[in-house]
Amino acid sequence: MSRFFSEKYSNLEAYTPGEQPKDMQYVKLNTNESPFPPTEKVIMSAMDAARKLQLYCDPECTVLRKTFADTFGIDEDQVLFTNGSDDALNFAFMAFCDESHPAAFPDITYGFYPVFAELNHVPYEEIPLNEDFTINVDDYCGINKTIFIANPNAPTGIALSMEKIKKILESNPDNVVVIDEAYIGFGPGSAIKLINEYDNLLVTQTFSKSWSLAGGRLGMAIGNRELIRDLNTLKYSTNPYNVNTMTQAAGTASLLCRDEFEKNRRTIMVNRLFLIVKLRRMGFTVTDSVANFVFSKHPDISGEELYLKLKERGVLIRHFTKERIKDYNRITVGTIEQVNILLDKIGEILEEAK
Ligand SMILES: *Cc1c(COP(=O)(O)O)cnc(C)c1O
Repeated sequence: MSRFFSEKYSNLEAYTPGEQPKDMQYVKLNTNESPFPPTEKVIMSAMDAARKLQLYCDPECTVLRKTFADTFGIDEDQVLFTNGSDDALNFAFMAFCDESHPAAFPDITYGFYPVFAELNHVPYEEIPLNEDFTINVDDYCGINKTIFIANPNAPTGIALSMEKIKKILESNPDNVVVIDEAYIGFGPGSAIKLINEYDNLLVTQTFSKSWSLAGGRLGMAIGNRELIRDLNTLKYSTNPYNVNTMTQAAGTASLLCRDEFEKNRRTIMVNRLFLIVKLRRMGFTVTDSVANFVFSKHPDISGEELYLKLKERGVLIRHFTKERIKDYNRITVGTIEQVNILLDKIGEILEEAK
């Protein structure tokens, strides 16, 4: 820290992104990216858009917004595009949390929430998940806080039903409830269909996972137009050009070849089931994940040791040091080839550990 760094950030502990090592070619199952590249049409659209990079991008994302609204049956002023959904989540912490509206989220969830809370000097409560990592809905009813729930949750992959989400929304009518649907493409339905019914619901989604566009940085917030207007006030007060021209084009093109992405999503879901069944047969405890990753632990080997031994063998997975989940690893579901390599290496490691 320099002697110039503002006192107000001196205790800030930044988020640690999953490692992206370049020392060798890893089977990369640590950051929940899609193993599939964007479609040819998406690539061509982005390349074509590069011809206009001397101009500022469209701050309103007009074409992208219209295409998204048409695709998901909402109005154009019910969605805001951002630089990845992390950008949208940060705006939500800025806009809807303060001393009288503290944030609340599970103790085991996306690691960025406490960072955003600290960054924005917002008080927050971490509500413990049940023993089995499910959410106890009663803990969130009538709490008078701005609630953040990843659905399905990360890193557990466990989903909350629409009925339970409704219960949380209804019991906190004067607070915003943010449902972070980063992994919605791999499981049950989206809460987007509730935005006309609940004016306190904000849904965030991303193109980073199921849409194969993590490097493009494209996320969005969806909710009633008043909420979206608030977020726009913050966007235009920080960086109106937060989604660049190439990314806007890539996002639009992606929405127009939805079928191809749908196929990829199905492949991931099939591979997930295969991986979960195999891991359970090898003695792992595995949560019922509906995301593009699995969350598992084995009685014979610590989470850290498995992570390190797989890394030595060229396979990257994610290990967390947080006490409650330190025995676990989060493993991204890749192609069937990647899944098979992973399972082979785990087999070798468990054999050695005996
Ligand atoms: C990956 C992820 C995000 C955001 O990703 P972006 O790349 O910023 O869109 C948000 N929430 C959760 C739970 C995630 O796992």
